[in-house]
Amino acid sequence: METNSSGGGSSSGSLGSSSTMILHNAVIVTMDKESRVFRNGGVFVVQDRIKAIGQSADILQQFSQMADQIIDLQSQILLPGFVNTHVHTSQQLAKGIADDVDLMTWLHDRIWPYESNMTEEDSYISTLLCGIELIHSGVTCFAEAGGQHVSEMAKAVELLGLRACLVQSTMDCGEGLPASWAVRTTDDCIQSQKELYAKHHHAADGRIRIWFGIRQIMNATDRLLLETRDMAREFKTGIHMHVAEIPYENQVVMDTRKVDHGTVTFLDKIEFLQNNLLSAHTVWVNHTEIGLLSRAGVKVSHCPASAMRMLGFAPIKEMLHADICVSLGTDGAPSNNRMSIGPFYF
Ligand SMILES: [Zn+2]
Repeated sequence: METNSSGGGSSSGSLGSSSTMILHNAVIVTMDKESRVFRNGGVFVVQDRIKAIGQSADILQQFSQMADQIIDLQSQILLPGFVNTHVHTSQQLAKGIADDVDLMTWLHDRIWPYESNMTEEDSYISTLLCGIELIHSGVTCFAEAGGQHVSEMAKAVELLGLRACLVQSTMDCGEGLPASWAVRTTDDCIQSQKELYAKHHHAADGRIRIWFGIRQIMNATDRLLLETRDMAREFKTGIHMHVAEIPYENQVVMDTRKVDHGTVTFLDKIEFLQNNLLSAHTVWVNHTEIGLLSRAGVKVSHCPASAMRMLGFAPIKEMLHADICVSLGTDGAPSNNRMSIGPFYF
């Protein structure tokens, strides 16, 4: 990348609070409503806001006199930041601890013992490292899938400059829970999430949102599901939940909740499906359930690395044909031992 001096001021220095900058000679993919692409485009930036975008020649002619810096991007691609819709910031320190095992072993014997022993400082450091890797791969916004010590996560996100929807790992029953988690009641789960919402929602100049979490249906009572649904409606925020990850999950739901298919069928039955639900993975769904997700406006986060490593592939093509909003996630670091959304998926 080459930096040329401009007629308007100093050519050196970082983009400070009073900085103005032109980036030109770039392939700009705007992702705006008209899907405009500029083969030789430029942008004029004032502080942290794009003030103008267009052909390089036009931007240079119009704004060069006002620019502190003019940077020739030499045909590199300029596009909006990626949104990673399924991340476990708490798991960044756990690369390599859960290779080559099935999901239940992965959760019960490897990840939950690790997560349940995290200190607040561990969460802060883990989120910082995760965020650095996300930024390196072009991510500027992410959805946390449910982790430990949300206040420390928020502190790290504020420092990183990212945008994030943060979620506490929430479970109130079921097998495999470490002792310190097994004592949590449904009321504890609800109350702590309300407190986190009050403390951090819209923090960091609005970059941080607090959503509500259901870690997975096998560790959630019906009451937790229903109160989470109602609370999210009342607070006008989102819910992040792992859904239909493995056939065993669907079987447990059929056996214990008396429905004829899996998690999605049950969630529809209790009117949990709504347009503020981010449904992670959602691999083991049938045609009827895809229709239920579509009608409710549920969003799906597809994580190719987890799909290839442990879960199997969701029927993404069928979901897209049903007009379901499908996005990409990396999942946590020990799902693939990396946190890069870019080269791995495209
Ligand atoms: Zn996950």
